[in-house]
Amino acid sequence: MSRRPVWLEGARRVAYAAADLAVPLHCGGCARPGTRWCARCDATLRDDPVELTPRVPPPVTTWAVGRYVGPCRGAVLALKEHGRGDLVPILGAAVARDLVRLAAWSELPRATGSLILVPAPTRWWAARRRGGDPVTAIARAAADLLGPRVSVVGALRTSAWAQDSAGLSARARVDNLAHAITVTARPAALARLRAPDTAVVLLDDVLTTGATATESLRVLAAVGVGVHAVLVVAGA
Ligand SMILES: [Zn+2]
Repeated sequence: MSRRPVWLEGARRVAYAAADLAVPLHCGGCARPGTRWCARCDATLRDDPVELTPRVPPPVTTWAVGRYVGPCRGAVLALKEHGRGDLVPILGAAVARDLVRLAAWSELPRATGSLILVPAPTRWWAARRRGGDPVTAIARAAADLLGPRVSVVGALRTSAWAQDSAGLSARARVDNLAHAITVTARPAALARLRAPDTAVVLLDDVLTTGATATESLRVLAAVGVGVHAVLVVAGA
């Protein structure tokens, strides 16, 4: 029987070190060292949701877990730009808490039997990156916490030819998105979204002008799906 070589223990430590390098141990909200998510940033996420007034206003009330500053901005950037997938459960919990609050404030219908979260559309190449689409991941984490009557339906996609909207004016963003967002939900999913006892919330990571949310609601309305509210992690 062969004994485990001593040198393998060294390899094991290297593997752990490499894993730690991949996800550096600093707060995803404020970069404080020694923790992946600090108590101060966590307290910010626990504040009440913020009502937004977008320049391109969707026809329903638009809410954010927080403003696009500080921990909310830091967490979204860490997740999207630096692959900090470990922040998904933290942001999912914040979204879940805010959905419960919005229901308590009667901003979401309370009598409905189920709640469906529709992730805002992502560009096809973004969804193919490692770890998939972060908005869908956050939505799933929130739905898992909220129980079996809350689910996630991927219903929207942005065409490959839509430009990255960063740097565009509000008007240019609207033009860029016109007819660029398409409904991809299959008939069974559409039937669930249209069901009268279902509340639908559009979820996104960041809201800048509101153009994406407004166009998403327009194309959903065109196929008979009414959205009750828009909720984003970080709102400008
Ligand atoms: Zn922090």
